[in-house]
Amino acid sequence: MTTIKLHNTKTRKREEFVPIDPENVRMYVCGPTVYDRAHLGNARPVIVFDVLYRLLRHVYGPDHVTYVRNFTDVDDKINARAAESGRSIAEITAETTQWFLDDMAAVGALEPNEMPRATAYIPQMVKMIEGLIASGHAYAAEGHVLFAVESYKEYGALSGRSIDDMIAGARVEVAPYKRNPMDFVLWKPSDADTPGWDSPWGRGRPGWHIECSAMSYELLGAHFDIHGGGNDLMFPHHENEIAQSCCAHPGSGFANYWLHNEMLQVEGKKMSKSLGNFFTVRDLLDQGVPGEVIRFVMLSTHYRKPMDWTEKKREEAEKTLDALLSPLSIAVAHRAVPSNAWGDVPKGIRETLIEDLNTSGALTCLRASAELVGKLAEGRGPGESDGATLQVACVEFLTGLEVLGLYELMLKRAARKRDNKDLLDDVHLRFVIARNLAMQTKDFSTVDQLKAGLKQAGVEVRMTKESVELVPGPEFNPAILEALK
Ligand code: AMP
Ligand code: ZN
Repeated sequence: MTTIKLHNTKTRKREEFVPIDPENVRMYVCGPTVYDRAHLGNARPVIVFDVLYRLLRHVYGPDHVTYVRNFTDVDDKINARAAESGRSIAEITAETTQWFLDDMAAVGALEPNEMPRATAYIPQMVKMIEGLIASGHAYAAEGHVLFAVESYKEYGALSGRSIDDMIAGARVEVAPYKRNPMDFVLWKPSDADTPGWDSPWGRGRPGWHIECSAMSYELLGAHFDIHGGGNDLMFPHHENEIAQSCCAHPGSGFANYWLHNEMLQVEGKKMSKSLGNFFTVRDLLDQGVPGEVIRFVMLSTHYRKPMDWTEKKREEAEKTLDALLSPLSIAVAHRAVPSNAWGDVPKGIRETLIEDLNTSGALTCLRASAELVGKLAEGRGPGESDGATLQVACVEFLTGLEVLGLYELMLKRAARKRDNKDLLDDVHLRFVIARNLAMQTKDFSTVDQLKAGLKQAGVEVRMTKESVELVPGPEFNPAILEALK
């Protein structure tokens, strides 16, 4: 059996991944709070853990992996959004959840096996909180329930901090009902205008952290394999999840491997609304940056390194992906399809991905695999270039695309390019006819109009006496061209 190696935040080491049960490898990843469109940074953990999910499915079999990613649909940011927009919370969370699923599908992410919503697990959270109170790890005070961090000696172990460091470094809310300033909220009271559920401590709602402990327990059990999220969640969110879960289920161990992706920046700067460099995944898609380009750029940086989104990387990704189109069409013409078998993933991709998800290395190997298809198809391959060798190379190339989440997206890219070619051919024909007519009538108004439209669509018009050539540039926008038809 192949051994995947993963950097475990808990031990700060690269470790061999040994699943608790290879028949059912279990992974939990913290998902979004649903009150707005996902920004580009939010797509990073989704894409990173999607590759890990695909890798696990290939190694252990597609039916032997359970991936859970939650939706936080009870949160004060959601309440604030409802209050300022006058819309209901249910409407906002349902709409935003669907946006998230659509946008993440557009960057090629598979849906996890389970996508629990926090509000569907309130009784389970209440039960867990009751247990924590009964075992002396939590206490009720003034309508709140707080977790007593001093009751859990390992608190801070994940992020490697002591309680004193955490008090000094974090902006902890000091409240009169807290025994220790680090104690965090498991349950809080709701007023009449705030969503709330009846509980032994009065009408209220859960604190943020308890939902992941309750939902991972319900769906994956007290002890599972991998827990993931962005490294901004390591403290306090993950530290609190560990404290809650380990105290609620003593001796269970909770997650064996903790994986954290680094943050995304834009042109070397933190993405923020005040810097004017904040954008959502949907903004990019609407501007004509396709999902495969977003995904390719993300995968070209290792997940534990800060990743910089730049215009230059976007342009390069477009070119690299275009170079994969011809091998893709060869493979499709040979009726090859991606396989679920680990052995059908190109060797280089297998060797790089198992090294703590070296996705940039895997992309290099993907290009090599594509080149091999091209060479074999032209009879220039190494060794014997018979039909069977080409067939194997085709399956491997497509399986390589699939394990990186690029297969479906590349099929769409190919279809889009074909449509664009037909579209350009149409406009070209109209242009030639209009120009021939204008040479006779000396009325060039239609030609000028077409030229202006083409320029707006990012298409360069190269004319000689005999010929007209339309050359789409980097700003090419087929929607504008469509309007010219
Ligand atoms: P949130 O909805 O803010 O809780 O974030 C959802 C997920 O996106 C979490 O796993 C965060 O760690 C992750 N995330 C948020 N901002 C960024 C960023 N700039 N780069 C990478 N991941 C991020
Ligand atoms: Zn969580």
